[in-house]
Amino acid sequence: MATVFVSDLHLSRERPEKLDLFDLLLARAARRADALYVLGDLFEVWLGDDDDTPPHPRVVRSLARYARGGAGLYFMRGNRDFLAGPTFAAAAGCALLPDPAPIDLYGTPCLLMHGDLLCTDDIAYQAFRRRVRDPDWQRRFLAKPLWRRKMISRLARLASRAASLGKPEAIMDVNGEAVRETLRAGNATMLIHGHTHRPGIHEVALGGRVARRIVLGDWYEQDSVLRCDGDGQQLLRVRDYLDANY
Ligand code: MN
Repeated sequence: MATVFVSDLHLSRERPEKLDLFDLLLARAARRADALYVLGDLFEVWLGDDDDTPPHPRVVRSLARYARGGAGLYFMRGNRDFLAGPTFAAAAGCALLPDPAPIDLYGTPCLLMHGDLLCTDDIAYQAFRRRVRDPDWQRRFLAKPLWRRKMISRLARLASRAASLGKPEAIMDVNGEAVRETLRAGNATMLIHGHTHRPGIHEVALGGRVARRIVLGDWYEQDSVLRCDGDGQQLLRVRDYLDANY
């Protein structure tokens, strides 16, 4: 048996082939796993649990079907779907995870994160994140009609894209000290996250012991999936995972 992780699928109606790929992953490979963890940005944008813009209903139905199959299904909010709430979770049959979320991964103390919290060099983004994660802000925002939320979110994304153009590459990646601090505080020797769209497996020296940081890639380009079992971890493309005989 295995545990499967994905993040940054950014599912939207603009990329129908990714919806099919996600359904294949759910129906085949992940079906044989003990649990599936979605570590944020499953959706390109989720503006509240009443946001039934296609393909949201289809994705929720796929998740619910998967959960009914008996495997564990866990969802962590990313920066694109941080407004996913309890109504979404109930409909999709998933458990909502805090960020970071500690788990025991086959005996290894492991922290799961979306990854944006680790990008501490991006001061402007962290200020934005604090503002929109505030429950009062969210209550006010969710009280607006969906069409207004869509308008505001489109403007915010345009502004964020313009701001990213002027940001050096390093600022958009995780901060090494934030990674070490998070691992120490969580007493963990493994960290799994996405968000940066820079898939890879990194060793992190923690003064005396070495931890492992695994970064999931996005589904714009990389169709990234992580499969873990008692023998180790494999960071794969979904197609290779489907073709492999796990
Ligand atoms: Mn993200």
